Amino acid sequence: MTRKLYWEDPYCQAFESRVVETTSFDGRPAVVLDATCFYPTSGGQPHDTGRLNGVPVVDVVESNGQVVHVLAEPLPTDGDMVRGEIDWERRLDHMQQHTGQHILSRAFEVELDAETVSFHLGDESSTIDLALADLDARAAERVEELANRIVMGNSPVRVSEHEGAEVQALALRKAPAVEGRIRVVRVGEFDICACGGTHVRATGEVGLIHIRRWEHQRGQVRVEFLCGGRALRDYRRQNRLLLRLAGDLTVGMDELPEAVARLGEAERAARRQTEQLRRRLLYAELSIRRAEAELVGEWRVFHRVLEGYDAGDMRYLAQRLVEWPDMIALLAVEQPSPQICFARGEQVSLDMSRLLRDALAPYGGRGGGKPHLAQGGGVSPADLQPVLERALEAVHEEQR
Ligand SMILES: [Zn+2]
Repeated sequence: MTRKLYWEDPYCQAFESRVVETTSFDGRPAVVLDATCFYPTSGGQPHDTGRLNGVPVVDVVESNGQVVHVLAEPLPTDGDMVRGEIDWERRLDHMQQHTGQHILSRAFEVELDAETVSFHLGDESSTIDLALADLDARAAERVEELANRIVMGNSPVRVSEHEGAEVQALALRKAPAVEGRIRVVRVGEFDICACGGTHVRATGEVGLIHIRRWEHQRGQVRVEFLCGGRALRDYRRQNRLLLRLAGDLTVGMDELPEAVARLGEAERAARRQTEQLRRRLLYAELSIRRAEAELVGEWRVFHRVLEGYDAGDMRYLAQRLVEWPDMIALLAVEQPSPQICFARGEQVSLDMSRLLRDALAPYGGRGGGKPHLAQGGGVSPADLQPVLERALEAVHEEQR
C-alpha cells in the first residue's frame, strides 16, 4: 500500500520518497513510491500532474492500494530516493471544485430534496447529475444562494476515518463506495459524506459557487457549475464580453437586450426596403427590356443570361415581361447555380415547357412546367448561352 500523503495533508506540494517498483503502464514508464502527494483519478476527481526528479508525471492511477505514477520518460534515479512536486494550481483548483460540489450537492438536497447521482470534474467546468425531474431558474438561484452562504460562513472542512458500526451511526449523505475503513468529509454542520478526494480546509477557500447552466436528460438534471478561480475567470470573461458589446452598441450593459432587439428590427426593416427597391428597379427595367427584344415574326423575344440577378429576380422579370401578350422571355442566371426560365404572353402559341426541354436535352439539363411558364437547370454556366440560342432558333423556326 502506498502511503497517501494527499490524505494526511492535502496542502502538501512537495515530498521525498523511495521508489518501490519501476514498471510500465499502457506502454509508458511508471513508478510506485512508498509515499506520494500525487492524487490518482478517483471518485470524480482527476489525477494530479507534476514532476518526479524533474520528469513530468502525465497520469496517476490507483491499483490494489498502490499509486502508479505514469511518466513522460523513464525516471533517472541516483539511488532509490526521488523528489516529487505536484502542480499546485491544478490541485487547488480540483480541491475548490470538489469541496464546492459537496456543498452544492447538499444544497440541492436541502432546497429541492434532490439527490446527487454522479459528479464529474472536467477541465473547463464540472457537472453533477441530480435525481430531479425538473429545475427552473428560481429554484437554481435558491440553491446557489444557500451554497454561497455556506462558503461565506467559512465553516471548517474536517476529514475523519471510520469503520464498521461507527459508519452506520453517521448520517452520511452518500453511502460509502468502499468497504472497511472509510474517509468521511464534514463541511461544518452542513454536510457529511463519504469521500476519498482532497478538500480545502474551510469553505471560504472554495470561493464563489456558480451554477452556469443545466439540462434535462432521462428524468435527471445535469447541472454545470464553477467554483473559485474558475468562477472568477468566467465572470471576468463574461464581463469583458458584455463591456465590448455595450461599447460597440454605445449603450449601458443593462440596455443591451433592447439595443440588440432594435438592431434586429432595423435589420428586418432594411431587408424589407431592399426587397421593395429591387422590385421597383426590376419594374423600371421592363420597358427597356421590351425595347431590347428581338422581333421574330409577330412575337418579341427578350433573351439573355442575366448578370447580378438571382433566380427570384429572373422569374419576376419573366412574369412581368409576358404581361405584354406578344412577348417571349428566354432568361438564365448563373448564380447561385445555373437556372433557366422561359415564359410567354397570351398571344404566343409555343409551349414553353417543351421548348425548354428540347433546348436543354443536348446539354444534359432538366426542366419543365406549364405551357406558359417553364423552369430548368442542371447545366454548366458555359452552356446557358447555347441553350438560349437553341431555343431562340426554335422560335424562329416556328415563325418561318
Ligand atoms: Zn467527494
